[in-house]
Amino acid sequence: MIISKQKEFKELLRMVKELDIFIIGCGKCAAKLHVGGEPEVLEMKNRLSSEGKNITGWAVLSTACSPGSWKEVLGQNPGIGKADALLVMSCGCGASVLSKLAEIEVYPALDTESLGGICSEELVKEQCRMCGECEIWLYGGICAHSQCAKSLLNGPCGGAVDGRCEVDELPCAWEGIYDRLKKLGKLEYLEFVHEPKDYSKKRGGIEIELQKKNILKKIHCDC
Ligand code: SF4
Ligand code: SF4
Repeated sequence: MIISKQKEFKELLRMVKELDIFIIGCGKCAAKLHVGGEPEVLEMKNRLSSEGKNITGWAVLSTACSPGSWKEVLGQNPGIGKADALLVMSCGCGASVLSKLAEIEVYPALDTESLGGICSEELVKEQCRMCGECEIWLYGGICAHSQCAKSLLNGPCGGAVDGRCEVDELPCAWEGIYDRLKKLGKLEYLEFVHEPKDYSKKRGGIEIELQKKNILKKIHCDC
């Protein structure tokens, strides 16, 4: 799940100068998090209308990052044709994909924070930064890259106080890594020296692999 939160409304008003707006929500993560599903889209419509904007229509796409063809989206939502701008209430990925398709200005209504999930009904953030080379097994299943505030791969910074990170006062990821490896009987993993992340694997590596296997164009995302 992609974790997003709504931008401040006054920030949105500063950003969106156009008067005729079409609002798009996302039926997946943004809806689950109550930041971009139907109720939030309708609330946004009312708030923007009360600020003098003309809302030409709204829609909640089933998956904003995988909208099919733009022709199809337009066909189902003719109000888009009357708008000068789209306000997208999805994660940055959905907003970016729609920006590639739409021929008008696209504004993101949400700020995307991290990749997370829901674990035992608790929302967990910062679980993964999509580095392209997953090594969490060496860290007891905890991603040091995303859960340590300094993304330290080779041990703690030593700044934790009472188990809390000196940066944000959340539980120190490295204390969690130590405890977990101890429990698993794999403390020897702490002796590994990790090279810095290979960012070439993140940029294009996966796409190239998929192209090699000729499956990129067949992908239909229904996440
Ligand atoms: S190691 Fe990389 S791929 Fe694995 S959880 Fe962390 S950021 Fe995500
Ligand atoms: S206190 Fe822990 S989580 Fe925070 S930066 Fe240092 S090692 Fe990382």
